[in-house]
Amino acid sequence: MEDAALNCLQNTFGYSDFRLQQSEIVQTLINAGDAIVLMPTGGGKSLCYQIPSLVRDGTGIIISPLIALMHDQVAALQQLGINAAFLNSTLDAQTSRQTEDDLISGKLEMLYVAPERLTTSGFISLLNRTNISLFAIDEAHCVSQWGHDFRPDYIRLTLLHEQFPDVPRIALTATADEKTRTEIKHRLQLNDAREFISSFDRPNICYRITEAQSNARTALLRFIQNEHENDTGIIYCLSRKKVETIAAWLSEKGFTALPYHAGLPASTRETNQHRFLNEEAVIIVATIAFGMGIDKPDVRFVAHLNLPKSMEAYYQETGRAGRDGLPANAWMAYGLKDVITLKQMMATSTAEEQYKRVEHHKLETMLGFTEITTCRRQSLLNYFDETLEDPCGNCDNCITPVETWDATVAAQKALSCVHRTGQRFGVNYLIDVLTGKDNDRVKQFGHDNLSVFNVGKEFDAKQWRSIFRQLISRNLLAVDLEGHGSLHLNEPCREILRGEKTLLLRKESKREKSSRKGRKPYNTDNADNNLLWEALRVCRKKLAEENDVPPFVIFHDATLMEMMERLPENHQQFLQLNGVGESKLEKYADEFLKAISEHSNNMKQDVTDTVNESLMLFRSGMDADAIAAQRNIKTTTVYSHLANCIEQGEIKLNEVVDLAEQEINVIHETLLSIDDGARKLKPVYDALDGMYDYNILRCVQAAVMPT
Ligand code: ADP
Ligand code: ZN
Repeated sequence: MEDAALNCLQNTFGYSDFRLQQSEIVQTLINAGDAIVLMPTGGGKSLCYQIPSLVRDGTGIIISPLIALMHDQVAALQQLGINAAFLNSTLDAQTSRQTEDDLISGKLEMLYVAPERLTTSGFISLLNRTNISLFAIDEAHCVSQWGHDFRPDYIRLTLLHEQFPDVPRIALTATADEKTRTEIKHRLQLNDAREFISSFDRPNICYRITEAQSNARTALLRFIQNEHENDTGIIYCLSRKKVETIAAWLSEKGFTALPYHAGLPASTRETNQHRFLNEEAVIIVATIAFGMGIDKPDVRFVAHLNLPKSMEAYYQETGRAGRDGLPANAWMAYGLKDVITLKQMMATSTAEEQYKRVEHHKLETMLGFTEITTCRRQSLLNYFDETLEDPCGNCDNCITPVETWDATVAAQKALSCVHRTGQRFGVNYLIDVLTGKDNDRVKQFGHDNLSVFNVGKEFDAKQWRSIFRQLISRNLLAVDLEGHGSLHLNEPCREILRGEKTLLLRKESKREKSSRKGRKPYNTDNADNNLLWEALRVCRKKLAEENDVPPFVIFHDATLMEMMERLPENHQQFLQLNGVGESKLEKYADEFLKAISEHSNNMKQDVTDTVNESLMLFRSGMDADAIAAQRNIKTTTVYSHLANCIEQGEIKLNEVVDLAEQEINVIHETLLSIDDGARKLKPVYDALDGMYDYNILRCVQAAVMPT
């Protein structure tokens, strides 16, 4: 059984190893067990049900609420030579009927359906006539009434278990706190399911946040120009108007930047989304409405021009970058204005008080996150109850340490104020006590008699607010979300209170962060690489158009990069590439191999041309220095050309260098004694105490030790 799954992974999907807990999840299903899977976006949830669907007998039924995603997944599976289909409201009657026939006759390996269809009696009777391998419930958090994506149809999915008790089920989600997980378990009757909770870390994403008031736009432009000139990206803004302004402005600067928000006509949205998926280097400027169900793996950056309203939103939106595992940036510029706008939006919202309070605290936590001076990833993961032992080295605070101040005493004051007032009050009240406001409320509780009363005069309310936010974001203080926003102490704060640990907080002054180049997934310094990269992308684009799928469905960037590295010459070598399975080998290998070999030939031709030119000049009587001057290239390069000609037998060694027989012998012996096949000259040069320069050594090597 184990072999069957691995075989399928390698031969059908073309991947060499399972990721994270994929292997265990797949085995659980293959052995007819149920599973609940919590895995971050891009973690590889799909394979968890796709492989068992293929390995087990019968058709895998996948319930997914996102129609666009269904379509893409089925197209991708078909590319792999897998017989998959979907049923949803976009199909005409005839296609639907055909798909239903295929289902009953057992032709389909996987069928994707929308939840509202699944629970109809017609469809259930269809399923009764079908051999089913498993049920996969994607986006399982939609079953939670507590969350924002609640779908009533999901509640009815329990009938799967009632009607088909023997069919294994897998529920998957990327967004679920413990409460939602418990709900998934109960509402879907998955009480015996094994739970698989993966780390939410996305190590390839570099988190960067800069404070910017009026200059956010310029900062954005600099960021894109310096680091993502030819990349796909998403820029999030809060308002529709800002979306359109930024898109227009970037277009003016020469980028392909398209707007996307709910106020645009459906046809415009569709076109822009289509271009984003199918063209290269398209930037989408969007409100948060964009992204749900978009699975483009090669988004190289996500930029926020406004503060997201919660850590969940930040994680989800930035998570759309770098799903292919290659380096990606999550960049954000925020200003005080954002905070005010968001707060106003919340204040004027018609939501219930309790809901508003929750939202408000989520925003405070998000704010705290922007201010921290320690590793962003540690803090982000901590928010999702996960511990990262060491600072990540791949966030702005790790890369460029922030200026800090010793806030130990201030923190002690704040923390004791929380403690002395009984851990029952919110930030505003605590600040009143600290700054000695003897208003009625303070008096009523008798807190003007406390030792902490009026001990914090050195800071104003705004500064205290920042201190409190940072204490919350570092988990020293906790906010009671369902109560009235009161703060209470968390265990780690004891060290601070006892003075065993100093606490450094971020200085509010601005810092200039050096922009970082070289975060490209491939090395652009090398012109040859660039040419091949472009050739491979052109090849991919052509195949994508022929097959009517987005380019990434043909191959990911990661696979193209491996082609550049390994330069496969035949089918066998091509199959070794990650992302190449048997179906794609058969369909695409020839085109790509042709592109690679053409490129190599061009390179060889170019080499031949330039060598010939030097040879011609040499024959006309010029020496290496003169040729170099004439051709405006380095003397060393000319010598390498001449060495090439010596090796080919076009010219003789003694025509180029003036050496005695004895000297040549000494060099030859040294070459032999050091030879390890790598043809490195430095050890030879060193062994001869630098007596002969590299150019001479190179020519002798060409004469006496041909490749
Ligand atoms: P999720 O649904 O969890 O967001 P996907 O299932 O879409 O993630 O997987 C994200 C990407 O990772 C896909 O492009 C997929 O092909 C790739 N992937 C998944 N599992 C593996 C693996 N074991 N090896 C290599 N790539 C994988
Ligand atoms: Zn870090």
